[in-house]
Order: sequence, then C-alpha cells, then structure tokens
Amino acid sequence: MVKEEWSPGSAVVHAGTERVLGAPVAPPLVPTSTYVSWGEPDPPRGYARNGNATWESLEQGLGALEQAHCLVFASGQAAAMAVMLALCAGGRRLVLADDGYYNTRTLAERLRPGGLAPIVVDLLDLDAVARALAAGPAVLWAETPTNPLLRVADLVRLGGLAAQAGAPVVADNTVATAVLQRPLDLGATVTVTALTKSASGHSDLILGATATRDEALLGEIRLWRTVGGAIAGPFEAWLALRGLKTLRLRIREQSANALAIARHLAAHPRVRAVHYPGLGQEAPWFRQQMPDGGGPLLSFELAGGAAEADAVVAASRLIVPATSFGGVESTWERRARWPAEEAPAALIRLSAGIEPIGDLLADLDHSLSARA
Ligand SMILES: *Cc1c(COP(=O)(O)O)cnc(C)c1O
Repeated sequence: MVKEEWSPGSAVVHAGTERVLGAPVAPPLVPTSTYVSWGEPDPPRGYARNGNATWESLEQGLGALEQAHCLVFASGQAAAMAVMLALCAGGRRLVLADDGYYNTRTLAERLRPGGLAPIVVDLLDLDAVARALAAGPAVLWAETPTNPLLRVADLVRLGGLAAQAGAPVVADNTVATAVLQRPLDLGATVTVTALTKSASGHSDLILGATATRDEALLGEIRLWRTVGGAIAGPFEAWLALRGLKTLRLRIREQSANALAIARHLAAHPRVRAVHYPGLGQEAPWFRQQMPDGGGPLLSFELAGGAAEADAVVAASRLIVPATSFGGVESTWERRARWPAEEAPAALIRLSAGIEPIGDLLADLDHSLSARA
C-alpha cells in the first residue's frame, strides 16, 4: 500500500513509474518466468509465480484507488475463489446475493465439498441477511450494484449487521469500480473486482483483483494465488494498468451515456422496465454510496418475450452484440441466453461506451423498431 501524498486520481496516473533520472515514464512490461538469484530465495523475486514487476505496478495503481493492499489474479473468478478459500476455510457459510453475478453463486456451490456453505439471500432484505448471518460463522458477500439487475444494497447497514455477527464483508465492486464506490471505507473487509470489465475498459483482457487493508488476510489470499497459480500474465497486467489510468475519465462519460440511455428507454413504448441506479427509482442510500454516478451498466425489459429481445439486439448497427461490459464500445445482450443466468427472459443488459450519445440513441431507436 502506498501512503499517497496526492489524491487517488493522481496516484493512479503515476503508478508504476519512478522519478529517477533515465527511468521510463511508461511502466515497463516485464515478461519473465524466473529471476537471477542465489542463496536464500527472496520470495517475490525468486520465481515469477510469486511476483512480477508489471503486476506490482498494476497493484500500485489499484492500491492508490482503493487506499489498500491489492493483489491481481488471472481473472475475476480466480480472485473470488482465492478470497472464498481464504475466508471460508474451516467451514464458514457464505451469504450472497440472489440476484448477483451468477458465476459467483456457481463458484460457491463448487466449493461446497471444501466446507463452504452458500446461502442465497436478497441483500435488500436486511432481516433475511441478519437471519442468515446469525445461524453460525459466516462471510457476507455483497455485490452492489448487482449484475444484471443493478440493484443497490446498503453497504453501511450490511456492514453493521455483519460486524454484529462477527462476519467479514466481501464487496464485489466490479460494476461500480473503486472510482465510483469505495466499499473499504464503508465497512467492507475486502473487495473483489473483475478488471476484465470497466477497470481495464478496452475489452482486450481477462484479469481480476482483490483489495484489503487487513495484512493477515492479504497474506492468506496471496498464498492461495501463489500455490493455486491463478496468476496474471504480465502483458495483461500491463494493458490493465494502461486502461486503469483513464478509468476516471471513461467512467464519467460512460455513466452520463448510461443515464441518458436509461431515461430514453424509460420513455419508450416497447420498454416495460429500466434498471439503472440514478434513474430516480433506486434505493435512497445510492446517492451517498455512489455520489459520482451510476456506472456504465444498465438493463431493461422489453414487452414481449425472448424472441423480441433477440431481434432487437441483432438489429443494432453501432452497439455491439456481445457479453461482458465496461469497454469503450457500447455492447448489449439478452442476458438469459446464458443457461445459469436467472434474469427475466426478455431482459437486455446494455453497457454504455464512450460513443457520442446522439449516435447511441439513434442506434437504439433503430434497433427497437425490429420485430421478431
Ligand atoms: C465478470 C464478473 C466477474 C468475473 O470476472 P471474470 O474476469 O470474468 O472472471 C465477477 N463479478 C462480476 C460482478 C462480474 O461482472
């Protein structure tokens, strides 16, 4: 963790560089599997599954945004698995959102034989959360806003319930990113972020990260990374840091586009419901938790069924039909085409990119005229 003299916004831009005569201004890409070493091995510099200078530059940038220690992983799922293993070893229950990212639920289920017991609840139902936490040693896995329904849970109140129960809180911060939401400042013990999405922002890599201010927990998570081997490729880490440096600018533009699209859709006769934090129907704690915007992701439900939604997605000429989100290009998909996804059949998830809003609205109107 870097104790920064400057704000996170400046620190991330300068991450991975040194003010030393002749040093490169751009963080170097260091592809190596091993290091020159003799005698007692210095763990981070003995073998490259233990450490790599390009990851460390990225971790420095993320650490600046989170004001915490960070570890990067081969994917968001790899980061989530290391955190689940580090926190739930010994048989803790994992209380997680019923409407969150479906692969988190799948992963928790797969870890059942290792003693982890997943319990799915609605994170906006605080009584249900309290009951789930009271039944024995637990970890609360909070995802907010949720993917794909963009529901906003109250991190401060969830943190209070978890503290009463002695349960650490994990926050999946993929949708908001550390630029729009700082769960560690709101009571979370550790964050998990899929860098694959908005944080890197160019749809060109798969990576994940965790951040915490708890050094003992950091050590445990790092151990799972080292022995489990789900390490980042140096090139992906280099690309991710390059993307991260413009995150503040991109997310501002993407949030503005997403809000304009959400408002436009809300007034469209074919649209039955729009889900976007900031549209005016969100939970009252949203403005405190994410004061700078709702992020790039929104979803909406069409009147009609899956075939209607498929026809609309296929008709776009600018918005790219694709999964994932947070890239500079706008993308969308009918979410329930994924078999394990529990979203409504005609729900379309849209990630607003940085294209001029007039083009996006024109493409939307054109697409929404398509019929099955
Ligand atoms: C994509 C995503 C993940 C998993 O990240 P990968 O990099 O695809 O493994 C985790 N949580 C959320 C909310 C996501 O959207």
